Amino acid sequence: NLSQRLMRVAHYVPQGARLADIGSDHAYLPVYLAKKGQISYAVAGEVVAGPYQNATKVIANSHMDQIVIPRLADGLQAFSKADKIDTVTICGMGGPLIVSILNAGKQQLADRPRLILQPNVGEDSVRRWLNSHAYEITAEEILEESGHIYEIIVAFPVDAVPKLAAEEMLFGPFLMRSKEQAFIKKWTRELHREEKVLHSLTKAKTDSSARSKMVQARIDLIKEMLADDN
Ligand code: SAM
Repeated sequence: NLSQRLMRVAHYVPQGARLADIGSDHAYLPVYLAKKGQISYAVAGEVVAGPYQNATKVIANSHMDQIVIPRLADGLQAFSKADKIDTVTICGMGGPLIVSILNAGKQQLADRPRLILQPNVGEDSVRRWLNSHAYEITAEEILEESGHIYEIIVAFPVDAVPKLAAEEMLFGPFLMRSKEQAFIKKWTRELHREEKVLHSLTKAKTDSSARSKMVQARIDLIKEMLADDN
């Protein structure tokens, strides 16, 4: 039973893909895709021994070990050119960690795989990386599951990407235009959080005017986004 979150990620993996799932933990995503016949090959990469052993067990128990290969490795080092990977998924981590994995793995990205990323926080840092590495965001999703709101960002390699505007970077070029219920909920929460931060900054009276200005600017952006019904 795959979570709704990983089910939506799976939706963007093309038929017959050669997948690298980085930070795979139990390898649920590649095993699910292999059982469905949706992928022809997968590497399940894990940097921590415990999760790597979990992945190995789940793969063996599912009898998918001809298709899904567990590897103990840091980030994109889990695969090489010989694996002919065309799709990379990195899910369930913070945006900054995803960015550091992408930055450390430039060599593995030389063949320009499709990227399907599911940051838990700091989505804007992921969009900024994509925008400056000739990856165009082609789809985004937002969903709520067991009290958490998750975003999924799908990106394709292109020759040149148009620069995203500040609000597209923060809210997501697709998400800000569809404004689904989960989106409104997320940014309403975020607005309250930022207002509390601003309040405590003001009360503390430590001279953090630069910080206050940044928070205020974010609050203004969010308010504008939530007020605008286009
Ligand atoms: N991808 C699965 C999901 O979305 O359900 C598991 C998410 S789990 C919260 C994050 C996993 O990423 C952990 O198992 C962790 O060990 C692994 N991880 C963190 N940094 C990593 C890195 N640099 N390379 C490979 N795996 C990493």
